[in-house]
Amino acid sequence: MLHYIVLIMTKKTTVYIQDTCIACDNCVRLAPDTFALTPDQLMVYVKQQPQSDATHRRCHHAQVACPVQAIRSQ
Ligand code: SF4
Repeated sequence: MLHYIVLIMTKKTTVYIQDTCIACDNCVRLAPDTFALTPDQLMVYVKQQPQSDATHRRCHHAQVACPVQAIRSQ
């Protein structure tokens, strides 16, 4: 069964990472302006909140691609 998640990001959206992150690196590759691996490479952190339409779009793709839904926004 397929499950679809609808995510809406606006310019006021704040993105954060939950500690369920498994450091798979998907989000860093998809949205390198927003996400980065910690120096020990055990987790990802938000290095800069998305600012432009393009970075919001990349961030959205990263959120959908996260295998453990660790990328949250509010
Ligand atoms: S895609 Fe999800 S699990 Fe993978 S590094 Fe990013 S936040 Fe962590």
